[in-house]
Amino acid sequence: MSQDLKGETKGHIHLLSQVLREVVEIFTDLGFEIGEGPEVESEYYNFDALNVPKDHPARDMHDTFWIANPENGREILRTHISSLQVRFMEKNKPPFRMISPGRVYRYEATDATHEAQFTYVEGLMVDKNVSMAHLKGVLEEFLKRLFGKSNLVIRLRPSFFPFVEPAVEIDMSCFKCEGGGCGICKQTGWVEILGAGMVHPAVLNNGKIDPRVWKGFAFGGGIDRIAMLKYGVDDIRLFYGGDLRFIDQF
Ligand SMILES: [Zn+2]
Repeated sequence: MSQDLKGETKGHIHLLSQVLREVVEIFTDLGFEIGEGPEVESEYYNFDALNVPKDHPARDMHDTFWIANPENGREILRTHISSLQVRFMEKNKPPFRMISPGRVYRYEATDATHEAQFTYVEGLMVDKNVSMAHLKGVLEEFLKRLFGKSNLVIRLRPSFFPFVEPAVEIDMSCFKCEGGGCGICKQTGWVEILGAGMVHPAVLNNGKIDPRVWKGFAFGGGIDRIAMLKYGVDDIRLFYGGDLRFIDQF
C-alpha cells in the first residue's frame, strides 16, 4: 500500500494474484487458453469422470467438503481443478491447450503448509502424438521463465494419480542454490513443484475424445506453494489472513 500526493492510501494487487498473473502470462505465451469451471461441483466431474474409484480415499469425508443439494443430490466444493478437464473436453474439439487457475478446497486442519482453501493451476494439452517429451519440454520451459533461471532443469519421479497414466511428480533443480544444497531444497538440490502425467484413456473417453487418435498430458501445482518458494513466505495462512503488515511487503 502506498500514499498518493493527497495522502490517501491506495491498494495494490495481492501477491497470490501477482503470481497467478505471471503463470497465466507464461502459458498464454506458450499457446494455452484459459478454462473456467464451477467451484461447487458434481461428484461426477470431480471424481467419476476422472477415473477416481468409488472407494478412493480422496472421497472420504476428511478430504472433501460435501454440500447437500435437494435437487441434485450431493455436490462438493471441488478438491482439484481437474474437475474441469472432462467439462472442457465435452465442449471443445482437440487439438487444444488449456490452463485453468482457481480455488480448490480440502477438508483438513490448517497449519503452516496446509489451508482448507488454496489456489491452484492445472493444465491440459491434447493433440495427436503428444508424449512425455512434450510434457517435460513445456513444464521445464514454464518453470525456467517463472523462476527466471535459464539453466533450470526438471526431473520426473514415478507417482500415482487415477486420472493419468503414467503419473509423475516433477522436481526442479533448486533455483536458490542451483544444486549445491540449501534450506529451500533441504540440502538435496531439488524442489518438488508439480504433479503431472499422460491423460488416462478412460478420461479421454469420458470427454468423448477417441484415445486411439488423441493423446494428452495434464499437470497441476499450487500457486500458494510457488509464491511461498519464490518470495520466501514460510506460512501459507499469511496469504488469506488479510494482515496488511504482510500484504504490504509485496
Ligand atoms: Zn537449494
